[in-house]
Amino acid sequence: MTAFVFAPQVQASIAIQGRDERFPVHRIYCVGRNFAEHAKEMGVEAPKGNPVFFMKPADAVIQSPAIPYPGATADLHHEVELVVALGTDIAEPLTEADAEQAIFGYAVGLDLTRRDLQAAAKEKRLPWDTSKGFDDSAPISALVERHQAAIEPETVLRLRVNGAVRQESALADMIFSVPDILLALSKLYTLRSGDLIFMGTPSGVAALQRGDRFHAELANVVAFEGEIV
Ligand code: MN
Repeated sequence: MTAFVFAPQVQASIAIQGRDERFPVHRIYCVGRNFAEHAKEMGVEAPKGNPVFFMKPADAVIQSPAIPYPGATADLHHEVELVVALGTDIAEPLTEADAEQAIFGYAVGLDLTRRDLQAAAKEKRLPWDTSKGFDDSAPISALVERHQAAIEPETVLRLRVNGAVRQESALADMIFSVPDILLALSKLYTLRSGDLIFMGTPSGVAALQRGDRFHAELANVVAFEGEIV
């Protein structure tokens, strides 16, 4: 057994619907600008070439219904997203046929964003890390295993805040499909079991305040709700 100078931090993990075992999180990859209407509202052209990627630390996942409002921002934004969870290692660039087989399951998540820090970073052409990869920046539902999740192009991704619909779009509106994204990522990284991919958000991103209640859903698949505290 390896001896450590102190106990390693607890492995980040998320619940799986209908199972006692948990899903251990390895890395969190995120796709930027994957819905044309959202790219437009952010003042950029929707990408036509390569998808935009960034990352969050694995321990940014949070499944508590009480989501802490982070420090260092006055403009915390919600981005509701489809999350794809990988169940196998992928050493070689994927083929489209293999992409589906690598998927363990799906969840719905929030890519919480300190929009003010992101805007400042964009303006100076600096990295986005502090705007995207902060503590508790990845609230996420339980995972639904692939064979139990009816994910269709018509499946609707929806976020309500205090009962009002803020974001709503069908998965068919994604510029890059799930296989497209897995193929592109597999050329950049060795994908591993435990990796999560946040697939990008539809239009309607806006600020969250302390006390706001949210309800995020992948309609007829999985949902979760909570409050910003
Ligand atoms: Mn996002």
